[in-house]
Amino acid sequence: MRRGTNLLAVGGFNQSVILDRIRRSPEGLSRVEIAAVTGLSAQTVSNVSRRLLDSGMVREGEKRNVGPGKPRTLLHLDPTGMYAIGVHLDPTVVTYVLLDLSGNVVADHRAPTPTGLPVAGGPPAAATPDEVIAAMAEQVEAILDRSAVPRERVLGVGIAAPGPVDAARGIVLNPPLLEGWMRVPLREALAEATGLPVLLEKDVTAAAVAEIWTTDDRSRLRDNFAFFYYGTGIGMGLALDREVLRGASDNAGDIGHIRVAATGPLCSCGRHGCIGELVVPHYLVDLAITAGLMPAPYEPLGPGAIDSLFSTLAGAAAAGSPAAIAILEDTARHIAGAVVTITNLLDIDQVVFGGPFWRRIAALALPVIAELVNGDPALISPHPIHLSDSTIGEDVAAIGAGCLVLDHTLSPRPSTLLISE
Ligand SMILES: [Zn+2]
Repeated sequence: MRRGTNLLAVGGFNQSVILDRIRRSPEGLSRVEIAAVTGLSAQTVSNVSRRLLDSGMVREGEKRNVGPGKPRTLLHLDPTGMYAIGVHLDPTVVTYVLLDLSGNVVADHRAPTPTGLPVAGGPPAAATPDEVIAAMAEQVEAILDRSAVPRERVLGVGIAAPGPVDAARGIVLNPPLLEGWMRVPLREALAEATGLPVLLEKDVTAAAVAEIWTTDDRSRLRDNFAFFYYGTGIGMGLALDREVLRGASDNAGDIGHIRVAATGPLCSCGRHGCIGELVVPHYLVDLAITAGLMPAPYEPLGPGAIDSLFSTLAGAAAAGSPAAIAILEDTARHIAGAVVTITNLLDIDQVVFGGPFWRRIAALALPVIAELVNGDPALISPHPIHLSDSTIGEDVAAIGAGCLVLDHTLSPRPSTLLISE
């Protein structure tokens, strides 16, 4: 259930039903067929089709002869009829994508998350939320300019942000890794700055949305799955029967305090062994420095340094360094522990792995996780757990944020019925 986002419901329930049918029929669909499969009256189908043709979201194709009577004109989705923008706010980098109506990436762009003035002796301070939002608005304009997409063809902007969020109000609450962000009304601020409708979603949920939207093939993406998001922090997006699970406050999927070891760094919760501390890139970099795999830095590590040292660690493991391999194997074991807990809880049969830091360790970590999960005596499921890499790549959360906007327009949901046409 989504609230407070009526702006994007451009045509109401019947329009979503018809658009959804057309979208799922690459060979095209006639008005008569649409009426038959939707149960809507011929008059309603005709009226809505006219509106969709006028809006550019649908185009008329060839005529097809179906028995007696005049040939029927087929309706097709026009991918260039409308667009959506997805933005992923990460503590290190902000990713922008422009999607067409089919969900294809037309343009993308990454920019470092703005930083403020350096603090004496340390890495640059975080920029204020206002500075970050202003930079976001500029980049949204820039991606539209570069791709020459007319503004009136943009349905809206979806933002994927680190949790916790208040999605109903469009507020980023207090993400542990975004310094200075405390109850920031990001949705309204970006809507004001861009003049476009804006949606806000937790990043891990957006990643799960992206998987569902871009993968129809059930052999590649099961109906019940989790998305393990490996970024500056970690989290899980959850989907049951191909619907993402948001929970009471849209913050489902926070796995950070699942304890997967008896020891480990002290967590903000006062305990040791929480996965959110044990597997994150900055901790692995600390371990690699302690193991002598790289020189100790002279100053506290900023996001850029962690990113590059993490690549060094992954490279050392790939080159066969026993110390580096040991660090990543421990990481895989910790992740496997959390995966077993989550799969037991929800009876899902697939976990997809992705996020900005995942690809660098995937080749080593994924087979270890798969073996540990499926061989774990604590695994209750009578079916094997399928573990896979996301096929979407590092932009998965941004693409998911854009898909959310498309989803609002194209997917019929009972909640859309609340909005009058
Ligand atoms: Zn904890």
